[in-house]
Amino acid sequence: MSSYSKILVAVDLTEEAPQVLRKAVEMAKAFNAQLLLAHVIEPVGYAYGGDIPMDLTELQDQLDKAAREQLAAYGKEYDIPEANQIVTVGRPESEIHHLCEDRGVDLCIMGSHGRRGIQLLLGSTANGVLHGSKVDVLAIRIH
Ligand code: AMP
Repeated sequence: MSSYSKILVAVDLTEEAPQVLRKAVEMAKAFNAQLLLAHVIEPVGYAYGGDIPMDLTELQDQLDKAAREQLAAYGKEYDIPEANQIVTVGRPESEIHHLCEDRGVDLCIMGSHGRRGIQLLLGSTANGVLHGSKVDVLAIRIH
């Protein structure tokens, strides 16, 4: 069995995130691997079609701050150093691909809902990352 030395866990900051994170921490311990904790903030402009005549910078900054605080709390709880806590802005699927490549990650861990049927999986973030990923992807079934 090949072993992993750098694992990235992508979390969406919902109440489901700890389920994914706990498994990732166990995996990292089992492989004695470094663990990176990542969250991607989707640009506010995207969500609203980008045509709102207002400055969204402040809102974006608040989202960024909230994400960093949440990752810091997880980092404290699961002993993940600040240098391994990553917040980026963009499309989750492509940002996760970039992070894995840029940081030499060899396993990406994500959550996946146990929905039945391939149609229901299409469009999910885990599915999007799996397609086109150059590294192994492990989907943790969320209960
Ligand atoms: P979803 O397909 O949105 O239900 O998300 C499934 C999984 O994708 C989550 O459990 C996370 O592992 C990952 N994910 C979704 N959105 C993000 C995000 N914005 N940043 C990082 N990971 C994410």
